[in-house]
Amino acid sequence: MQNDRSPSSFNLNFLLFVLMHLGCLLVFVPAIWNATTIGTVVLAATTLLVRKFGITAGFHRYFSHRTFKTGRAFQFILAWIGGSAAQKGALWWASQHRHHHAHSDQPADVHSPARDGLWWAHVGWVLSSRYEATRDDLIKDLVRFPELRWLNRWHLVPPITLAAACLAIDGLPGLVWGFVLSTVVLYHTTFSINSLCHVIGRRRFDTTDDSRNSLLLALITLGEGWHNNHHYFQGSVNQGFYWWEIDITYYVLTALSWFGVVRDLKRPPRRVLELGRRRTAQPDVATVAA
Ligand SMILES: [Zn+2]
Ligand SMILES: [Zn+2]
Repeated sequence: MQNDRSPSSFNLNFLLFVLMHLGCLLVFVPAIWNATTIGTVVLAATTLLVRKFGITAGFHRYFSHRTFKTGRAFQFILAWIGGSAAQKGALWWASQHRHHHAHSDQPADVHSPARDGLWWAHVGWVLSSRYEATRDDLIKDLVRFPELRWLNRWHLVPPITLAAACLAIDGLPGLVWGFVLSTVVLYHTTFSINSLCHVIGRRRFDTTDDSRNSLLLALITLGEGWHNNHHYFQGSVNQGFYWWEIDITYYVLTALSWFGVVRDLKRPPRRVLELGRRRTAQPDVATVAA
């Protein structure tokens, strides 16, 4: 099915998205700026990193790709933490992401920068009312959990709860830094994988899409920048395949596995790692193809 990229399909999401960005400017209002403390900044860093982990480990590596196992309670916690990033529910996120992998950079891909431009791949598709539905046919393994369906339907509950908590902890500076600014940073770092990681970086593996590996994007997304690795072998919990490919999400999941919180972490098979090593010593596959 050809996707609708028409700006006329923008809806209330677009207005809220703009308001969140304008809300970041409140940081510079004297009453808020002067009341900002080290504690406020620590709160913002915490809500940023914990929610980022909720997206990368939870929404992406667990719900979308099932690269490790966990109990039902921690599964719900991951869905809640990821949901507090205000990127809709885990089921919506996973269904759209599985669709991306099935059609990456092909005509049906919802967010392909090569086909529809960087803006559309970055935020246009998210703001379009065309893609608001959760595609249950793509997440049959997840819809059987009623608590996940509830959280997916009421996806504003976790972010509103977090916003209220930030306000209670540190007043208006806490709300602006810990929720508004932090959420906007989360938006763009997450969306940059869909946009920039199909444009910038090196291609180790000769995938059928434009996915690329980028150390810079890996650093700001807790390891998601190794996107070409990921597109080549989606079933791996680690997206950095080698010791020099920094992947914070993987390190945290490994630590959690020591305590039994998560288990059965799936890693890439030896044949993939050996192919990758040979590729690393060669020119970029995109250059070879050119
Ligand atoms: Zn993925
Ligand atoms: Zn991709």
